[in-house]
Amino acid sequence: MHDETINLLEKRKRQVHTGGDFDMVAEKQSLAGAVSQRSCSFCGSRVVLYPIADAIHVVHGPIGCASYTWDIRGALSSGPELHRLSFSTDMQEKDVIYGGESKLHRALVELIDEYRPKAAFVYATCIVGVIGDDVVAICRKVEREKGIPVIAVDSEGFKGSKKEGYKAACNALFKIVGTDDVQEKIPKSINILGDFNLAGEIWIIKEYYERMGVHVVCTISGDGRVDDIRKAHRAQVNIVQCSGSVMNLARMLEHEYGTPSLRASYFGIEDMSKALYDVADFFDDAEMRRSAQRVIKEEVARLLPALAPYRKDLKGKKAAVYTGGAFKVFSLVRSLRTLGMEVVVAGSQTGTVDDYRLLSELCDPGTVILDDTNPLELAKFVKEKDVDLFIGGVKERPIAYKLGVGFCDHNHERKEALAGFIGMLNFAKEVHSSVMSPVWQFAPRRAGQ
Ligand code: SF4
Repeated sequence: MHDETINLLEKRKRQVHTGGDFDMVAEKQSLAGAVSQRSCSFCGSRVVLYPIADAIHVVHGPIGCASYTWDIRGALSSGPELHRLSFSTDMQEKDVIYGGESKLHRALVELIDEYRPKAAFVYATCIVGVIGDDVVAICRKVEREKGIPVIAVDSEGFKGSKKEGYKAACNALFKIVGTDDVQEKIPKSINILGDFNLAGEIWIIKEYYERMGVHVVCTISGDGRVDDIRKAHRAQVNIVQCSGSVMNLARMLEHEYGTPSLRASYFGIEDMSKALYDVADFFDDAEMRRSAQRVIKEEVARLLPALAPYRKDLKGKKAAVYTGGAFKVFSLVRSLRTLGMEVVVAGSQTGTVDDYRLLSELCDPGTVILDDTNPLELAKFVKEKDVDLFIGGVKERPIAYKLGVGFCDHNHERKEALAGFIGMLNFAKEVHSSVMSPVWQFAPRRAGQ
């Protein structure tokens, strides 16, 4: 296996940059048969809406769709945990033939009576789109009967990749925004958009902003609450993390309520510091800027000595990075440089050509840049570049392990907070323990089998 050559499919070649003049294409439908790592539109919607903890989430479809996305991210809540229950109408053959509308109605009424949620999100799956159940009409009916928002999510899986699902989730969220009666903006206030609080990151970031005197109106969707989302239009600025998931919501807030957006990343020392300074600059507030400086100084003074032993061991090691959105890759390249490591393979499922052009400029010459790649291509470049560490999600983990390469989960399944200054230390510890593990020498590729 170790000397096997893997060739790129002809139609994939322009989504892979291996050096020379930059000439990539991106934002294309996945090539049939190429086994993209992307998930379906329904899954994209679930990712974004799932962490809203005081709503029920009802998947209208066969049970497989619900189980595929059950507890899809370990999104933590500081209060209710209704989101973790993942309800489904469990459509059977009879429902497909005669329609599933009455079953959906019964399910919603029963669940709302039982759990008293603040809202209900109803996700359409592929089969619902095929048989044409009127999910919107059922949601309106239940909303009238029960007096809470019951929102149909236009998320039939076949509509596209998870990026289309993100849009459907943003449209659903926007139906709640502004339903709070008060319209005035709250002084020095922000919304934190695009973090899912997988391991408590929202709490870390919120605390930094609050130490600067900033009021956080709403977090979407990590540790999300329906009543806070109702007030999201009252924040003065949206701080938007990640390239894709909630960008559409930020655009709608700007168009409808005049709320501007700042993009931010909370991974690594440089990007975390920038995210704090950018907010102080937005408010043009000298006291807030001094507070930001104080927060950063205190945190970095603690962090740098703690990072030193990890940097010593990791210096010169090589990494491959593959994530959902491209924005996170930029932060990871910088964070790995802080640890003395070099990124030799970098890519994302949903980046744009501009993202990849910037990425090729940020990375060292010769770095392989990948759009919407697949397991075979990843394996090819991990082997060719002889990487020591793979950073990805659940679908990339087995590739790394089979090739005898350290792995760091920067996606759904991680349990360590990797955002903020404390997150940088957690990241260093995790990378170090995996890269330096003696176990990789026994992997068949490393052992020469
Ligand atoms: S592709 Fe369709 S059937 Fe498969 S999980 Fe997505 S919604 Fe369900």
